[in-house]
Amino acid sequence: MLENKLPGKGTNIFTVMSKMSQDHGAINLAQGFPDFDGPLALRERVTWHIANGHNQYAPLAGVPELREQIAVKVLDLYGCKIDPDREVAVTPGATEAIFCAITAVVHPGDEVIVFDPCYDTYEPGVTLNGGVTKHIAMQYPGFTIDWQRVRDTITDRTRLIILNTPHNPTGSLWGEEDIQQLREVIADRNILIVSDEVYEHITFDCRQHLSLLRYPDLAARTFAISSFGKTYHTTGWRVGYCIAPPALMEAFLRIHQFINFSTQAPMQYALADFLRDCPQHHHELGGFYQQKRDLFCELMAPSRFSLIPSIGTYFQLADYSGISDEADTEFAARLTREYKVAAIPVSVFYDKEPKQHVVRFCFAKHDDTLREASARLCKL
Ligand code: GLN
Repeated sequence: MLENKLPGKGTNIFTVMSKMSQDHGAINLAQGFPDFDGPLALRERVTWHIANGHNQYAPLAGVPELREQIAVKVLDLYGCKIDPDREVAVTPGATEAIFCAITAVVHPGDEVIVFDPCYDTYEPGVTLNGGVTKHIAMQYPGFTIDWQRVRDTITDRTRLIILNTPHNPTGSLWGEEDIQQLREVIADRNILIVSDEVYEHITFDCRQHLSLLRYPDLAARTFAISSFGKTYHTTGWRVGYCIAPPALMEAFLRIHQFINFSTQAPMQYALADFLRDCPQHHHELGGFYQQKRDLFCELMAPSRFSLIPSIGTYFQLADYSGISDEADTEFAARLTREYKVAAIPVSVFYDKEPKQHVVRFCFAKHDDTLREASARLCKL
């Protein structure tokens, strides 16, 4: 018998709910992916590069053209000047980047702080490296961080804080106050940061994404992680990237080279072309998704769900306590089976089972998909 290296972790919830959705012929608002394609011009560039000889290994850190465009982008968006040769790595998805960053710095016995509800890949990365995950639940229903609890949780073994803004699954964002608090709690300590910013372009109501790359003192200790899949509606391509100062990037690449070595070449060339020629795409993404959020909320208004405001990401939380007191995993399964709409139960993102009754819907869908799904949900 094999000893389980990840006790207590079964198949991840996205796989479980997408399969259940398919088995029951439901509309899949569970796993976060768009039901529409990315820009045609971008997809055509991939085809072009495949037809024109860009089919061999890309360099370890990514193709230079793309790293250059990433440097242009973060300077434009966050005023952050990086060296594309020493401070960027393109990875097969943000998930690999998160794993490499954790693996690069966490040694057995090190403690890592995460905020619940917490994305499902963080803790396994810590566990596999012999680290200990310290969960701090955000305050419900605003999903703010209790910074006193962070202070109380930090010890001499704390090596890393993993944060995520805009936040999946809650749709909350970090504010300047959080940045200041983070700065204070890590001052004079040897603590690094993994900043999962994969929804960086998807913020609403004129709210700004506060990338840690905006703050030179914090950026000096941060692995900032981004996703092209979220930005270009191409989650199946698996291309993301990490930005970190040279010493951290060196440690990161030491791991990355032995996991994937490098990332899909034709996609990287295509993304470089598209970033250069069409930067308006990422500038317009927040507005694009805000319309979808507004439509979904309007369609759901007559339902008995109570929606928790989402100001970023393409997720909408819904409290169903007015409908049922079932556990959220039961409720999500019944929703899929009986009403043919799949959702994600939010309790799976917690270390300690929370009291609330909340599910997550993904609104990165055609308007017609949202209309049909909400009509079904209004029947509950
Ligand atoms: N990030 C996506 C979500 O939150 C899922 C990614 C995955 O399926 N592993 O739904």
